Amino acid sequence: MGYIYDLHVHSKELSGCSSSAVRDMVRAYKESVYSGFVLTNHFSGRTNPLLGEVSWEEKVTAYWNAYLDGKQLADELGVDMFFGLEYGYGMAQEILLYGIDVDFLLAHPDLCDNTPEQLTALVQNSGGFVSHAHPFRNRFYVPKDYKHMDLTCLDAIEIFNAGNMELDDAKAVIRCNELGLKITAGSDMHHCELLATTLNGGIEFPERVTTNAELVAALKSGEGKLYRHGTR
Ligand SMILES: [Zn+2]
Ligand SMILES: [Zn+2]
Repeated sequence: MGYIYDLHVHSKELSGCSSSAVRDMVRAYKESVYSGFVLTNHFSGRTNPLLGEVSWEEKVTAYWNAYLDGKQLADELGVDMFFGLEYGYGMAQEILLYGIDVDFLLAHPDLCDNTPEQLTALVQNSGGFVSHAHPFRNRFYVPKDYKHMDLTCLDAIEIFNAGNMELDDAKAVIRCNELGLKITAGSDMHHCELLATTLNGGIEFPERVTTNAELVAALKSGEGKLYRHGTR
């Protein structure tokens, strides 16, 4: 058995839709089959409703501090934890950013002015890795003719998301193969108590990864396999 990582996890400090503190998430993953996870809190625009009116520096520092809080416990417990973001453009246009850190965010105070394609290039040029979260998720508020981003510029597509319908994931697998992109997968975990009881997933790597560079290299290698467990 390899090393399983959940690449899509939220915590309540920065994601209003999550009910779990980052430290409770860490404890839940410690008790699970996973070796670790990436904290990918929702990020859109210059502020976050949970933070009120804050500067760019205050905003990105809050994201980083929530990560550090979890990371401290993760290190104590032997859980491999990474910083990431789920950057939302609205209309279910959400991209997962991996291999970035607070220095990257502080260096780009104009980050929110970028199109999804520009943001993808920015992250890639900084040594990061970008995947489209649940690219074929159907939502009532997304117009049928809404023009989604150019998927070809991405590194990967999320081919499994526990919050998806099976059909949405199946479409993602087909499109990923057509485009020759790498894969990511995750639980889109928002409530730590669900980790043991509902459908969840991630990517299983043959080797353990402990740094952002190792995570990005492992994702780029294409050696990771889809892991999924449980039922919806
Ligand atoms: Zn959410
Ligand atoms: Zn999510």
